[in-house]
This record gives sequence, structure tokens and C-alpha cells, in this order.
Amino acid sequence: MHQGLVSSVEQVRRYEEMKAMVLKEISPVENEPLRMEELPDPIPGPNKILVKISACGICHTELFYFKIRRPPRLPMVLGHQIVGRVEGLGPGATKFVLGDRVGIAWINSACGKCHFCKGGTENLCLEFRGTGCHAHGGYAQCTVVSEDFAYLIPERFSDAEATPLLCAGAIGYRDLILSGIKKEQTLGLFGFGASAHIVIQIARYWGCKSFVFTRGEEHRNLAKKLGASWTGGLEDDPPEKLHCAIDFTPVGETVPQALRVLEKGGRLVLAVIRKRNPIPPLDYAKLLWDEKEIKSVANITRKDAREFLSLAAEIPIIPEVQEFSLEEANQALILLKQGKIQGAGVLKMQDE
Ligand SMILES: [Zn+2]
Ligand SMILES: [Zn+2]
Repeated sequence: MHQGLVSSVEQVRRYEEMKAMVLKEISPVENEPLRMEELPDPIPGPNKILVKISACGICHTELFYFKIRRPPRLPMVLGHQIVGRVEGLGPGATKFVLGDRVGIAWINSACGKCHFCKGGTENLCLEFRGTGCHAHGGYAQCTVVSEDFAYLIPERFSDAEATPLLCAGAIGYRDLILSGIKKEQTLGLFGFGASAHIVIQIARYWGCKSFVFTRGEEHRNLAKKLGASWTGGLEDDPPEKLHCAIDFTPVGETVPQALRVLEKGGRLVLAVIRKRNPIPPLDYAKLLWDEKEIKSVANITRKDAREFLSLAAEIPIIPEVQEFSLEEANQALILLKQGKIQGAGVLKMQDE
């Protein structure tokens, strides 16, 4: 045991300081609020692993931190789509060996003892902690995480390609599972962003027909390319009723529209954290009667991340990515806000 401790300390000495792009105060992204800093190496405590980061995805959630919802503590290293190699093992950490390629997603920790954690809905735990929000994330050369909250990355993906699977992908997978969809049923997707791109590929793999409701010719063309049976505007009628629907839009009006075209006994999943405007009053007889359901989605579980990574490798789903250096994090986030990134934006760490 003592021997193990000594070797892990040697491992963490590899970097004495690491580079990180740090958020110290809230300011619009155009002001480039992330600053490059040298931070001490994180040291893996009991049952934790030290990960040398090679890639970290950037996400719209991070844009919220600059205006709507600040992280609970600052300074903070953002980033919750992390891929890297295990470089050090804390005392008692046994699940990985040095050199394993692992991913870290939004779920950073949960209490492990409450009825949510014990029942498989650790995403609802009152002590849920998010990576790059409550705990330092991946806009850095290294991070530490509990070994229970890291996942082996299938060989099929490059480091950068795997990063969007850990956020948009795993969350989209949870949305789809919670919709209760069965093979060969019909699925409606309202809005066609990063998660919907992935959901439609899983739905096609499962033999489901997808109907995509979105504005803009470009989005509709991409939806067709990825397997949509039909595309239309948010208010249009699809050719068949929907067994399940997932609403990715930030507006309230899509809820009655989706319920209107939902089959009896169908379920509508609301996949966003917040709606910009209220959901209009729902006509019970027309929109909810006949056992229709509405369900929201919060966070992800480790099971979602694990299952989705292996499914994505099997299908396969290979995300398109645009790479930036760690130093370019501010500029990458500005481009993300402007909608100018091709595929998913990823920060690639330089090897030293
Ligand atoms: Zn994200
Ligand atoms: Zn818990």
C-alpha cells in the first residue's frame, strides 16, 4: 500500500504547475473573461484519479455563466466534456491503471447514499455536483475526479471526437431513453441542435421514424441527411402522429404544438433547463387527455454516459469537431455564441 502511495505522488509531480483558462469574474464573453493562469497541480485524494487532459469540449452552458447563472464559486475552471489519460492514482483508487484513456462528463459527484443515488437517479441527488461548475473542469492541462465518475473511452473515437459525446451525446441519449421510445415507433424532434443531431442517429439505428420540426432550410437539410423521414416548421403537421416527442427549444409555445401532434398515450420530453417564456395554458381535453404525458430532464447519470459511449461506438456516431488551442478558449466561446463553429468546438491541449 505504502509503495502505491509513493508512486502516485511521483506521478503527480510530473507537472508542478499546470496551465488553465480560469474564470475569475463574471463578464460578457466578448470581454474575454477567461484568463490563462498557472495553477498548482491538482493532487488526487482518496479514490480519485489525476487526468492529464488532451481535449475538452466547449458548450453553450458555459455561455450562461457569463450572464445568467454564475458558478457557485469563483475562480472556476470551466469545461465538462473532458478526455485525457490517467496520470496518477490517489490512495485506494483501483478502477483504472496509469495510461487509461478516460472521459469526464457533467456529473462530477453525488452523495451515493440518498434514495436518488441508490435508485439510479443520482442526477437528482441534492448533493449533485457539476464538472466545471462546482468542481474544476477541463479548460486546463490536468484535473482530478473520483474514479467512480470517469469512463473508458472506446478506441473508435479520437480524443477530440469523444468530447461532444460526453455532453450533447449523453444528454440526448437520456432524453431518448426517458421518452420511452420503442423500436420502429415515431419520434418528433422540436429544434435541431447538438443533442438532436445525435438523437436522430440513435433513432435511425433503432428503426424509428424521426420527424424534425425546425426553422431554417440548413437545419432541415442536415436533418434529412442524418435520417429524418420528414421535416417541417414548428407549427406544421407531421404525416403521422408521434409516439414520443423531444422538445429542445427554449420557447414555451412548442409544448402545446407538440402535444397536439402526439399520439394517445404518448410522451413529450422537455430537454431544456429553462424556457425563455411561459408555456401557454394547455387545453386539457385537446392536449392532455388520453394519457399523454410531459416529462422534463435534469442532468445525466453515469449509466447514461457509459451506455451512450458504447452505443455511439457501435452505431457509430462520429461527431464533427473544430479544434482550438487552450489559449483560444475565449475566442472559441465567442464563435460558439455567434453560431460560427462547424460541428462541436473542442479545446486541444498541447503535449509537453
Ligand atoms: Zn455541455
Ligand atoms: Zn445522493
